[in-house]
Amino acid sequence: MTDVLAPEIPALLAGLRDTYHSGRTKPLAWRLRQLRGLRRMLLDQGQELERALGQDLAKSPIESQLTEIGVVLGEADHALRHLRRWLRPKRVPVPLTVAPATARVIREPLGVVLIISPWNYPVQLSLVPVVGALAAGNAVVLKPSEFAPATSELLARLLPGYLDSDAVAVVEGGVEETTRLLTERFDHIFFTGNGTVGRIVARAAAEHLTPVTLELGGKSPVYVDADADLATTADRLAWGKFMNAGQTCVAPDYVLATGETASRLVPLLRAAIGRLYGPDPSTSTDYGRIVNDRQFTRLTGLLDGLNPEIGGTVDAGSRYIAPTVIDGVAADAPIMSEEIFGPLLPIVHVSGPDEAITVIANRDKPLALYLFTRSSVLVRRFLRDTSSGAVGVGIPAAHLFVPGLPFGGVGESGVGRYHGEFSIDTFSHRKAVLAKPMRPDTVKLAYPPFSARRELFARLFIARTGSRSGQADDR
Ligand code: NAD
Repeated sequence: MTDVLAPEIPALLAGLRDTYHSGRTKPLAWRLRQLRGLRRMLLDQGQELERALGQDLAKSPIESQLTEIGVVLGEADHALRHLRRWLRPKRVPVPLTVAPATARVIREPLGVVLIISPWNYPVQLSLVPVVGALAAGNAVVLKPSEFAPATSELLARLLPGYLDSDAVAVVEGGVEETTRLLTERFDHIFFTGNGTVGRIVARAAAEHLTPVTLELGGKSPVYVDADADLATTADRLAWGKFMNAGQTCVAPDYVLATGETASRLVPLLRAAIGRLYGPDPSTSTDYGRIVNDRQFTRLTGLLDGLNPEIGGTVDAGSRYIAPTVIDGVAADAPIMSEEIFGPLLPIVHVSGPDEAITVIANRDKPLALYLFTRSSVLVRRFLRDTSSGAVGVGIPAAHLFVPGLPFGGVGESGVGRYHGEFSIDTFSHRKAVLAKPMRPDTVKLAYPPFSARRELFARLFIARTGSRSGQADDR
């Protein structure tokens, strides 16, 4: 649905709620139809989507396929393959005190959900949550980012043609429309963006006791150990950092390494960047641009007073910032105080893994942590002594391509998770169902008055149940 104006939002939501209450979105067949429709849209309209992403972010067509359209296709296919199994009720054992009885967990949709997406991967971060919400049987309002206007307009135009337009609506716009949407009661709000707006969303949701998923950002650190295969490390770091001109929530934000390791890594990074984008990345059709002037000014401000070893050139007219590496940055420099979200890679010197763990553990919990080392002992230490949404050993960002892994943050980097079956958990209520036959009527044993015989029974039951759960805990 295109061009929904703020005052029209209540009527739009009433329509979606009617559709949901009609029961239409609940059958498996409806859900599979929506997933197939989305799949068809991505295949039919791939070029249109590539064009919009090129317009908004100067993304190359192949990067758009790999990191946006392909990720949504992967999630839709995975859900199409497994949804029937995911939705099966799960039997759980009943304790003796309740037996005989059957206990099941069934998943029911939440109702009408709101998905608010950002500009940096405007197709992926809009449609992967939509896959989860529809697979779980919900009606959906999608609010794409106003900072990727070509993609926002295209999604609003295309989606109604491929999905049940009585159950899925796109509301375009910026702060005004989102603020208006947030006054309404939704059954879940799924937000991807920065923590400041995340807090606004959470506050608005609290008014209606609406549960939220907050997919936020943060400074995702990289630790490069002296024993790492530095040539491959440099290639993979350059790929993960400079894709989409660094505007990736799981991009490596900064590197921690000893001065000696850094001095060996920097020339390898220079060579890797040259291989990816040629001697002058400004002429490469595979290298993106900064989304808008505000972000460009913020990023060039972060470079003030720093002396890049690699890159550092900028062009305001085309919002170009070269892939940039700055070695020996102080841990308290301005570039280390906020998420960079652009193609600037500072390297902070540490004395070794102990100091790296201390640096990471003393900061907000990041969305991801990347480790480059040959030592599995070291990997286990980082896993134990640091907290992050995800850990990539030997590879940045790629965990988001694995639908079986939960994607989400912890602490400042977010609340909740999605992808694959985790999306179904996010967009469903898990309902407990206990069914007890009328005969034999063992419930009687719990009725007062408590005679000596009943008391004995009760004590025996409780002791047995208690010892059983004790055994389970010990396992
Ligand atoms: P953005 O500016 O596009 O904002 C995100 C959404 O919030 C948009 O739809 C926007 O319209 C809405 N919004 C903005 N201001 C608002 C307000 N005052 N009230 C209500 N709604 C408002 O995107 P952004 O926040 O610049 O995105 C970048 C951030 O998102 C980074 O911190 C990045 O790390 C994070 N991010 C996280 C993930 C993830 O999956 N965890 C993915 C991408 C980006």
